[in-house]
This record gives sequence, structure tokens and C-alpha cells, in this order.
Amino acid sequence: MFPPVLPTYNRADVAFVRGEGSYLFAEDGERYLDFGAGIAVNALGHAHPHLVETLREQAGKLWHTSNLYHIPGQEKLAARLVAASFADTVFFGNSGAEAIECAIKMARRFQYGAGHPERFRIITFEGAFHGRTLAAIAAGGQAKYLEGFGPKVEGFDQVPFADLAALKAAIGPQTAALLIEPVQGEGGLRPVPTEFLRTMRKLCDEHGLLLIFDEVQTGVGRTGKLFAHEWSGVTPDIMAIAKGIGGGFPMGACLATERAARAMAPGSHASTFGGNPLAMAVGNAVLDVVLAPEFLPQVRRISGYARQQLEGLVAAHPGVFAEVRGEGLMLGLKMKVPNAEFVNVLRSHHMLAVPAGDNVVRLLPPLNIEESHVREAVALLGAAARDLEAAGKTAA
Ligand SMILES: *Cc1c(COP(=O)(O)O)cnc(C)c1O
Repeated sequence: MFPPVLPTYNRADVAFVRGEGSYLFAEDGERYLDFGAGIAVNALGHAHPHLVETLREQAGKLWHTSNLYHIPGQEKLAARLVAASFADTVFFGNSGAEAIECAIKMARRFQYGAGHPERFRIITFEGAFHGRTLAAIAAGGQAKYLEGFGPKVEGFDQVPFADLAALKAAIGPQTAALLIEPVQGEGGLRPVPTEFLRTMRKLCDEHGLLLIFDEVQTGVGRTGKLFAHEWSGVTPDIMAIAKGIGGGFPMGACLATERAARAMAPGSHASTFGGNPLAMAVGNAVLDVVLAPEFLPQVRRISGYARQQLEGLVAAHPGVFAEVRGEGLMLGLKMKVPNAEFVNVLRSHHMLAVPAGDNVVRLLPPLNIEESHVREAVALLGAAARDLEAAGKTAA
């Protein structure tokens, strides 16, 4: 019989029924340390009291009205995102891919409004991941996601990662914008060099292009700053966020400067569910915590500690791990054994992590972990490494 749930996922054989902070509990009552956080989504862990209480309260008042009317939670959350970023304005959707779609449409529409309808092409980078809609798979450019889905959506040109000569050569009279993740997530935790981001900004200004950052994974504190691009001092014209801002409630947002957004007139874009009162209540609650003055400095402290502990782990198991990668609490272990196999062995030790491209294991814990969680994680990673060593599955 064909599975009632469309079998598009390779699921691990476990189902979780309850969460508490950095731990998940399976149907059989077993407890797991969660260093996947729903792929960088549960930024404050599971069942955070402020988020739970906020959602409970909103659920008793109002769920949905549509964007035919004002939604006070949207106005509040947008104003806070604007105050905390480069942006002047925000569009709310329900996912990362929708945030990217909005960014792509906005960049094209900007050029159209500026008298350049011929400029619709967007340059992206090898190893990118921007979501699974037709435009997002075209932007990501990965053959495995494009295969069998018809002609690739027109208007995306891809160049090698952080390759300046290739980027310059790809900019043409039809180019509208450049799109990049400041740290590639699915692509294997590859940070874009700061100098390259600066040059991208300069090229955009020289050629009348817009700079789009995909901060769906890196945003909302994941790297120790509210947004990853703040480390570089380079600001985009448009930015997509999602994952962390909802803390587990589905939402995404497209942030932009007034200049980039000015051609998005009433009727030019819409979402039925986007920015609904439930999502906005939770998004505001996430910001209550993440924007508290002590929160991001603590993320930076704990990520320094985690990194140092992981370096020790890598040194202790040279046949299993090659190096530590990433920024803040968006960490990766480049593996010398197959990453998917390691993740499975790790899960047998009751710890969750997420595979990424380039044979990397991603560690994306809740942002509010403590040193004890890091120590527990390193012990479990070490136990999994010893299993593979004992089985003779390591490199050299
Ligand atoms: C997860 C992700 C997306 C897609 O988000 P969805 O919510 O799955 O549509 C886009 N870009 C990046 C960088 C991501 O990590």
C-alpha cells in the first residue's frame, strides 16, 4: 500500500511526543539531547514557558483574520525587526521558501520600477540552498532537487562559491540581484569570507543591482548576532528569514529597505496565512527573549565554549572528524566517516544532530543551552566516535 503520508522524506525510526528545553522525549519515554532543534528552528528549545504562554493566550483570543484587515501583531513585529536591522519594511509569509520568493519577486520588481524590466536575472552560488518551490530550486541550482520537475525556472545564474572572477564575469545587462547565504547551511556550514561580502556590496552599488541575503538559517541569533551579516558590517537590500523567528511556529519574513521595496505596490504580492495573529504573537515572544540585552552575548559565550570543546573532540578522534566549522551555534563537524551513518550512531546514544552537504554533521542546538548541555553533547559525540573506531569504520 502506498504510504498515506507522501514518502518524500527519509525519516529516522523514532517519533517524539514531548519536548522540554534542549531535550525531546520519544513515544517509549526515552530522552534525547536535541542538537538539531528542528533544523535551526526551535531557537529557544522546546516548550519555552514564555512562548507557550503567549501562544495559549493568543489562541483564546483570535487565530486568523486575513490580510484584508490590519493585524496589530504584524505592525508590532515589523517595527521591532526594522528597529533592530538595516530594513525599513517587512512582508510576512509562512516559510523560508516563501520569504525567498518574496525577495526574488521584489528584486525583479525593483528593476522593473526603475525602468529596467530586462533586468530579471539573479546570480547565486554553488552549494546554495534556498528552499523547494520551483523558483527556490532554480535559485539553489542543485541538480538533485531540480531533477524531473520540468524546465528550470528562468533567470538564475550560478557561479562557484566565493569566486570573485566568476561573479564579475556573470554580471550582465540582465542581472537584477545577487543572492547568498552569509553562512551556507545545507551546503556544509561554509561561511562566506567577509571580504567577498564587501565586494558583493560594491559590485551591486556599481552595477545598480540589489544584494539579497538568505538568513533563513543564520538569522535570529544563530551565529551570535541577531543577523549573521552583522559580523561583516555589510548590509543587504533585501533579506529572507524564517526558521528561528517562529521558534517552532511556521513563519517567514522578507525584510527590505524602502528603496528596494518601493515598487511593491498594493496587490503586487500576498499570502493568505502570512503574518496571522498566532504567528505574530509567537514571533514577538521570540524577540522578547532574543533582544533582551544579555541574550546574544550569552550565545556568543556559549558558542566559544562549544567550539573549544569540539576542537578537543576532533583532536581526540582524528579518524572520525576532520575539523570544526561554522559560526556561533551554527556549528559543523566535517567528517571522515559518512555523516548520515554518524548521525544514526549518535541517535543510538540519544543525541540528535543534522547531516549537511560536503559530509558535514550540523550541530544546531537551541540558543539558550548551558555549558552542561555542551559537555553532555561532547561526551555523546565522543561515544559515537568510539563506536565507529571500535567497528573499524574510521579513516586511516
Ligand atoms: C531552510 C532554508 C530555506 C527554506 O526554508 P523552508 O521553510 O523549508 O521553505 C531557505 N534557505 C535557507 C538558507 C534554509 O536553511
